[in-house]
This record gives sequence, C-alpha cells and structure tokens, in this order.
Amino acid sequence: MSEEIEKIKCLIIGSGPAGYTAAIYAARADLKPVMYTGMQMGGQLTTTTEVDNFPGYPKGTDGTAMMEDLKAQAERFGTEVRFGLATEVSLSHEVGGLHRVSIDGAKTLEATTVIIATGATAKYLGLESEQRLIGGGVSACATCDGFFYKGQDVVVIGAGDTAAEEATYLANICNKVTMLVRKDYMRASKAMQHRVDHTSNIEVLFNTELEEVLGDQVVEGVRVFNNTTGEKQQIAVTGVFVAIGHQPNTDLFKGVLDMDDTGYLITQGKTTKTNLPGVFAAGDVQDKEYRQAVTAAGTGCMAALDAERYLGSLH
Ligand code: NDP
Repeated sequence: MSEEIEKIKCLIIGSGPAGYTAAIYAARADLKPVMYTGMQMGGQLTTTTEVDNFPGYPKGTDGTAMMEDLKAQAERFGTEVRFGLATEVSLSHEVGGLHRVSIDGAKTLEATTVIIATGATAKYLGLESEQRLIGGGVSACATCDGFFYKGQDVVVIGAGDTAAEEATYLANICNKVTMLVRKDYMRASKAMQHRVDHTSNIEVLFNTELEEVLGDQVVEGVRVFNNTTGEKQQIAVTGVFVAIGHQPNTDLFKGVLDMDDTGYLITQGKTTKTNLPGVFAAGDVQDKEYRQAVTAAGTGCMAALDAERYLGSLH
C-alpha cells in the first residue's frame, strides 16, 4: 500500500442507489462521507433505459439521469464523490479500529466505518450478438424493461428461480414468453416451476440454447439449437431476457467478510452489519432476493444509520 494515508469517518464503496442513499444520510449526519464510485459510476441502473418503478417519478425517469440526481443530492450535503476503484482492503477486527482501503493501488484511506455497496453484476452468455444488442432488446432485468415489450413475444434464458420469476412476470405483459432451458429439467423451485407450467402463454423449450440474437440495431429474433438433436430454429421475438444469475461484486472481501456460498455478503438480522465492527453492507451486494433500486436505497439508508450509531457508540 502507498504512503499517503487519508483518515476519514465514513467510506462508501460503490455508487448505485444503495451507495448514494447511504451518502445522503451519512452526509446529513455530518459523517463527511467519501465515496469511491467504482468503474461503472451509477451502477447497474445506468445500463437500463427507463426506470418506471422508483417511487417519486410519476412519469418515469432515465436510469442514468436518476443516478445523476442521486449524485447531486449526495453532493449537496457534502459527500465527496471520487472516481476510483477499491483494490485492496485490510479491515480491522477491533471495535473502533481503522479499516484500510487502497484505491487504484495508489492511494490509501483509513476509515472508521466502511459501507460496502459494490452491487452485483448480471451474468450474460457472452455472445457477440447478445452484447451488441444490450439496450436494443437484450436485457437482464424483466422488472426494469419488461414493460417495453407489452403485447410482444420475448424469450427468457435460464432455468433458475430468477428465470422462472422473470418469465411469469413477462407473461403478464407480453403476448408470448419462450423459456430456453439448456438441460432437460429446470433448477427453479417446485413452486416457481408450477407457476411456469400453469401460465398458458409460457412455452418451455428444454435442451435448448441460444446460438445468436438476430437483428442489427434492435432484436428481431433468436436462433436456437437443441443440444441433443442439433436441430436449429429461429424464433421471432423483440426481447431477449438473460436470467442466468448475478455475480455479487465481493471478490475484494473473500476470506475477510462472511458471505454465503454464492458470494453475497451476510448481514446480521435486520441490520446492515457485517461480521466486522464498523463495516456495513447495503444493496445488491447483500441481497439476492429483491435486487430493486428502491430496496437497495432502503438498505443504503440503513447502513448510514448503522454507521452513525456505531460511531456514536465509540465515544
Ligand atoms: P441460479 O444460479 O439459481 O440459476 C441460473 C440458471 O441459469 C440455471 O438454470 C442455469 O442452468 C442457467 N444458466 C447458467 N449459465 C447458463 C448458460 N451459459 N446458458 C444457459 N443457461 C445458463 O440463478 P438465479 O438468479 O435464478 O438464482 C440465484 C439465487 O437466488 C438462487 O438461490 C435462487 O433460489 C434465488 N432466488 C430466489 C427467488 C425467490 O425465492 N423469489 C427469486 C430469484 C432468485 P443450469 O440449471 O443448467 O445450470
């Protein structure tokens, strides 16, 4: 770690709705928070188009614009928002101890409290055509983007609870939903599969994988293949929803903070406390269940309040 060490009361890592909401509350509580935004400033919402489900925007808003608003609000109360990536941590096990965090391998901070809001990243298949058409009909969030496919035909890729949930959500909005399941069974819970089976406008294609998303600027269809027979077919759709899981951004904390077997940080009870004193987690990094901007914002608020109380308890 470098020589230059800045001491602060509250460090926030990550700039999605959880991070910014934590910043608003921490700044208003005079914790003088410093936020490092990570590489994707604004987080996952900047990859969606319109956000229609965040309370307070009756006409909806643009994901990027919303994050700009949150940033401005956090800065208005004195949050220092800095572009940079936390690259190394040395977290204290002592109550009141200082947590060391290295930024971009170049600068070191010591913080009495750290709020981790590094989020999660949706997994994609990695096909060229899929990557090119993200935002042009390819999405990893049905609750964010499903509305734009009202009355249209879409495919959902995946066979876990997320895929089943997204398919049933989309079935309420769309004309037809085709699920592409690569095995001959679905991994989703029995209850979710039951819902899928009993939704008349969902068709499940087993042993089926996506070969290519068709279309130049926008999605016009998909070419799929059966991985047992090799048979190919084209399906005309306007939306492709990839639901093959999320990866929480917790690599930095492996072996340091308690996480579940899929890498999500574990928080204590109804708090945002991690297993280390003064270290809190908010947003998708600790939530694989709800993963909404509004729930992330809620836990961001909680993390700032938890941090404030923790600092108060040290005197
Ligand atoms: P999962 O890891 O459970 O499922 C991912 C799915 O994507 C699997 O069916 C997997 O297929 C498929 N998949 C992965 N890679 C590919 C690929 N390259 N091509 C095609 N298919 C692929 O992730 P989820 O997001 O569904 O769930 C994560 C966790 O969150 C789970 O514990 C789940 O129970 C929980 N959850 C709970 C909900 C609820 O209770 N309401 C809602 C949503 C999630 P395969 O089966 O072949 O490996």
